[in-house]
Amino acid sequence: MKKLKITICSLLVLCSCFVLSACGENCDHTFETKWTANETHHWHAATCEHVEEKKDYAEHVDTNKDGMCDVCMYGAQAVVGNVNYNTLELAFENAEAGSTITLYKNFDLQTGIIVTKEIVLDLNGKNLSVTNDTEGVGVFWVKAGGKLTINGDGVINGLGNNAYSIAIWADGGEVIINGGSYTNVGANSAFDSEHFDLIYVKNGGRVTINGGNFKCETPKWTLNSNDTLVGTIVVKGGVFAGFDPSNADTEPAPNNPCSFVADGYKVVSTEIDQVTYYTVVADAE
Ligand SMILES: [Zn+2]
Ligand SMILES: [Zn+2]
Repeated sequence: MKKLKITICSLLVLCSCFVLSACGENCDHTFETKWTANETHHWHAATCEHVEEKKDYAEHVDTNKDGMCDVCMYGAQAVVGNVNYNTLELAFENAEAGSTITLYKNFDLQTGIIVTKEIVLDLNGKNLSVTNDTEGVGVFWVKAGGKLTINGDGVINGLGNNAYSIAIWADGGEVIINGGSYTNVGANSAFDSEHFDLIYVKNGGRVTINGGNFKCETPKWTLNSNDTLVGTIVVKGGVFAGFDPSNADTEPAPNNPCSFVADGYKVVSTEIDQVTYYTVVADAE
């Protein structure tokens, strides 16, 4: 009996030695904190030399059957809280006022999304477009009662199959832009070669720009208010290609030229490849 114990013991020692040697010098593998996934499983991939090692390897779990893994978020598209929606329209429809929608994929929308409640949109590095839209209501059409705050990096492209190619239209509602890139470059000149609004306000709508990049097919019209049913645009940040937000000439006399730049802020400009970029900064900077 004693002999057997010794044998088992030495066998164990032998085993652990083998495992040790298979690990190389250092058995404490290191792993990414983010998940890696395939269609069926998720895991943490090794960051050490043992690239085959997988930590927490397991099948996806989807308790609420929304097409997204509850553990690693594989399959996430537009997420509100812990609920995944496979279209952005559904996310906006179902999101409770005050909630945040986070993008996990790019969406090419059929037409602009109408916003009539308070929503925070986290672009999360993803892009929104309206390539085939014939309406031209903007990627977001924010009406009275709507308040859309846009955070994060990503592109909002208003380029569509229409005469407007607006990116953001605050039509009685409010929009706060903290980040993202806004463009309609390539807007169809067959409709109009001179005038495409990028950020447009009307009917008392209000846009506050705290950051972001803005590049309009027709730079003069990067920021514009309807001439009679006016709205408000306040700029406290952002980079504007070929458009000086402190010296716009889009508004009717006697308001022309006009500045959209808030008190306490100023414009600094730099030229890159023959395009002047106007950056809005606080006066103190
Ligand atoms: Zn290792
Ligand atoms: Zn998973």
